[in-house]
Amino acid sequence: MERTFFISANTGLLETRMDLRLHQPYQQAQARRQFTFLPELEQARRVRSIPLGDDLARRIQAIPLGTGQQGPPPLLESANSKEIRLFLQSPPTEKERHGTPPQWSKFWKAHIPHKARTIWWRTLQEKIPTGVLRNRIWGGNGADPPSTRCRICDHAQEDLPHFLFLCPCKREVWETILTEHTTKLHWTDEELCSLMALDCRLIRPRKRFNITAIQITASILLWIWSLHWAFIFDEVSFSTPAGLSAARRHINTLIAQNQYRKERKEHALQ
Ligand SMILES: [Zn+2]
Repeated sequence: MERTFFISANTGLLETRMDLRLHQPYQQAQARRQFTFLPELEQARRVRSIPLGDDLARRIQAIPLGTGQQGPPPLLESANSKEIRLFLQSPPTEKERHGTPPQWSKFWKAHIPHKARTIWWRTLQEKIPTGVLRNRIWGGNGADPPSTRCRICDHAQEDLPHFLFLCPCKREVWETILTEHTTKLHWTDEELCSLMALDCRLIRPRKRFNITAIQITASILLWIWSLHWAFIFDEVSFSTPAGLSAARRHINTLIAQNQYRKERKEHALQ
């Protein structure tokens, strides 16, 4: 899969991805105003190469890079190696989602609730009862098939990415909590949808929080899940503030537990 460079319509930054979505006909994505090509790059995309005039070279050098970090974005010309690495870092590919043995070992040993681990594991196995999956499983026996629609926002296709991340109020919970607790400030749909991969490469918890990437992801996942089923079975409306406060509370509990474990370890060493 080749890497795609594009200017994000949201941030105005040069960004890069190696995912499938940008390989759809680009007009489709452009129509949704997800990104825009610089006129020169658009021409280059069509003919595959164009001579870089001085002006274009200068303009490319002056493009700010989307590294997802705090502070003013670095320019391509003056970015240091760390900034280039962060910029080139892309969401994991399909193959990488399955995890290496050390990543699995870390996952099983992580201090997260058993229920969160189970949901995460089921997600990796694609065994989450989304509208699309229910429709596929129960749609072939002659009876009316279950609808593929999202029962929260009425989106036509409740697939796994929509169920976990992209339903608007769930997306807001993910993005808000991640921005509060990690050093990355902008999250694309693709980046959010890659969070279940075991390498957690996109999450760098802020230094002041004694918490791991797996714990942050597990906390949000757990509360998205709980509120989803409270909505389905108990008709409790799914609200973003409820998701935010539940996830924050849970993260604070995990931080307190981490602190306790750390102090006990230090005490034992004395
Ligand atoms: Zn939805």
